[in-house]
Amino acid sequence: MKPYNPETTMIVSGAKGAWITDINGKKYLDAMSGLWCVNVGYGRTELAEAAYEQLKELAYFPLSQSHLPAIKLSERLNELLGDDYVIFYSNSGSEANEVAFKVARQYHQQNGDYHRYKVISRYRAYHGNSMGALAATGQGQRKFKYEPLAPGFLHVSPPDSYRFPEEVCPPRELKSVQAIDTMMNWEISDTISAVIMEPIITGGGVLIPPEGYMKGVKEVCEDHGALLIVDEVICGFGRTGKPLGFMNYGVKPDIITMAKGLTSAYLPLSATAVKREIYEEFKGKEEYDFFRHINTFGGNPAACALALKNLEILDKENLVERSKVIGSAMLSDLTILLKDHSYVGDVRGKGLLIGIELVKSKETKEPLDVQIVNKVISSCKEKGLIIGKNGVTAAGFNNVLTLAPPLNIEEKDVSFLTEILVECLNEIK
Ligand code: PMP
Repeated sequence: MKPYNPETTMIVSGAKGAWITDINGKKYLDAMSGLWCVNVGYGRTELAEAAYEQLKELAYFPLSQSHLPAIKLSERLNELLGDDYVIFYSNSGSEANEVAFKVARQYHQQNGDYHRYKVISRYRAYHGNSMGALAATGQGQRKFKYEPLAPGFLHVSPPDSYRFPEEVCPPRELKSVQAIDTMMNWEISDTISAVIMEPIITGGGVLIPPEGYMKGVKEVCEDHGALLIVDEVICGFGRTGKPLGFMNYGVKPDIITMAKGLTSAYLPLSATAVKREIYEEFKGKEEYDFFRHINTFGGNPAACALALKNLEILDKENLVERSKVIGSAMLSDLTILLKDHSYVGDVRGKGLLIGIELVKSKETKEPLDVQIVNKVISSCKEKGLIIGKNGVTAAGFNNVLTLAPPLNIEEKDVSFLTEILVECLNEIK
C-alpha cells in the first residue's frame, strides 16, 4: 500500500446506503460513490449473500467452458441491451476496453482488412490504465510518464457544449462529428478500426454532447467501415437515467463495454458485449480464428451471481427511473440556487451525474484556480459531504465539481447534499 498521511487520508471502516464512516466514527454522505458505481448504495446484504451462496455452490470454473451464473447473466444483459450481443467477461473496465480493441481489430483482419488498426478517441476521455486503454485515454497528464503506449490511438476534441456550443443542426453537420469524419479521411478510412466513446465524458468533466452527436458519430463510422465502441463503465446501469447511457441517444453500438456498475463495485467484473453478427465474422472459419483472450478470473461465478442480484435490485427498486427523476430535480434546484454565483459558469448533467463548472469569469470562461476548487471540496468534507472534481486536461483544467451519489439516495440526503454544497460554494463567492 502506498504511504499515507493519517492527517489527510480518510480511512473508511464501514458504509451504509449513501453514507460512509471513517475510523474516527465521522459520517460522510458519499456523493462521489457513483464514479466508483456503487449505484445501489453501500451495505446491501442481499449482494453479499448472493456471492456467498454461489461460492458455496461453485466457487470457480473457467469460462473456456461455462457455468450457469455466466450464462444467466449474459441472457439478462441481452435483455437489458435490447439486442443480440455475445458477452466476453473480464475483470476491469480497462480490460473490457482492451477486449473491445482486440475484437475490432480481429473482425477487420478476418474480413481481409489488415490495415484497419487505428482507434479514434476523444481528448479529456478516460478509458483505463493498461497500455491500450491508457493510449485511448485523452488526458495527457495521466500518460506522458509512461509513453510510448500502444500505437494507433488518435484523438479529436470532444464536444464541449459549454465552451464551444454548437448550432442545432442535423447530426452529420455538427462540427464535433465532422472532426471525426475529417480525421478518418485524412488518415485514410481503410486504416480505421473503431471509435471509442463514453455517452457522456465523465472523468473529463461531465461533458454532455449536443443533440445528435452519437447518432452522427455512428453514421460516420458506418460510412468509413469502422466500429463504434461505447464505454459504459460509468454511464451504464442507471447513472444517466437510462439502463445504459447510449439509450439516451437512440444509437445501437457495435461493441459495449461495462464494468463496475455491473456489480455496483462490490466485486470485480467487467463485460464486453459484441454484436452477434460481428462475432460471427470470426467464428468457425478456421481453427485458429476464434477470439483469443483468456483470463483466470473474468466471469467469476460469485461475481456473476452478485451482478444478477444487483440488476434485480436496480429493477425492483426502479432505480433507473429514480436516477432520472431525482437527478433532474437536483439539476434544476442547483441551477436556480447557483444562478447568481459569480464563479459558477455551468450546471449540467443527466440522471444522477451532475457537473458544476467553476470559472473565474462567466464572460471569459477561464477555469477557476484549482486551489479554490479544492477549498470547496475540503469545506464540503469538513461538513460531512464528499464530492469530487474532474475536467482534467493537459492544460491544467480541474474545475468541474462532480456529483454522483448512489441511485437510491434518500430525499432528505439530496436536500443535505444541495444545502451543504451551496453553503460551501457561497463561502468562495
Ligand atoms: N472507462 C471509464 C469511462 C472509466 O471511468 C474507467 C475507470 N473509472 C475505466 C474505463 C477503467 O475502469 P477500471 O478502473 O475498472 O479499469
